[in-house]
Amino acid sequence: MLEVKDLHVTVEGSEILKGLTLTINAGEVHAIMGPNGAGKSTLSAVIAGKDGYEVTQGTVTFEGQDVLEMEIEERARKGLLLGFQYPVEIPGVKNIYLLKAALNAKREAEGLGEIPAPEFMKLIKEKVAFMKMDTSFLQRAVNEGFSGGEKKRNEILQMLVLQPRLAMLDEIDSGLDIDAMKVVADGVNSLRAEDRAILLVTHYQRLLDYIVPDRVHVLVDGRIVKSGDAELARELEARGYDWVLEETAA
Ligand code: ADP
Ligand code: MG
Ligand code: MG
Repeated sequence: MLEVKDLHVTVEGSEILKGLTLTINAGEVHAIMGPNGAGKSTLSAVIAGKDGYEVTQGTVTFEGQDVLEMEIEERARKGLLLGFQYPVEIPGVKNIYLLKAALNAKREAEGLGEIPAPEFMKLIKEKVAFMKMDTSFLQRAVNEGFSGGEKKRNEILQMLVLQPRLAMLDEIDSGLDIDAMKVVADGVNSLRAEDRAILLVTHYQRLLDYIVPDRVHVLVDGRIVKSGDAELARELEARGYDWVLEETAA
């Protein structure tokens, strides 16, 4: 589904990704782990098409199509969706309108018409309940005054409504208490599907007890230096990253 080959990315003149290669198949959940500053957020941002990243070498393809040639909106329409690492506040725009607009943009791209209001309300109520959120949440401006946990729930709510093909979630576990993390993990697990892939960026293993990944990759200094299954995440939790670095150096 997604193929990243020898990706080199520069941010403000310094090379952050230095030849990153990664293949994600449909139906899989991949976790990217690694020390701070390794380039984890840069990877998902480049795939999603955020500004400020210069690709100097390498390719990214999604179902055989060149992602790097696509505008950010086109990537979203194709179902490449990145949640926000630190979701921004959007003053004045009600959450429910943003969700509806995003869903209708997606439906338009699929040749469907606008979602009928009753159908949308049914869908949104179901997803809000699933995320154990209060419906009053929908009437609030996007992320304005949301707690850290509410922002994360909202991020997953967006994914549940928009049903992306490739869901990229960057540190959805940061700042969550254990109950909120379980709700967020249930949301992510409910997204698992044969025609969808999930890319989780996480600094800690804890989340991966609840969302068990098919593949775990260690990203250090702009490259994936080791890959394995869920067991690798537990090993990293127990032993840290130094042994991986030593192994790589050797
Ligand atoms: P991670 O998510 O693994 O912690 P990032 O991808 O956020 O790492 O950052 C990798 C490196 O790139 C860091 O050294 C960071 O300071 C730098 N970096 C990322 N984004 C920017 C930016 N917009 N401007 C300048 N430097 C950046
Ligand atoms: Mg190279
Ligand atoms: Mg990051």
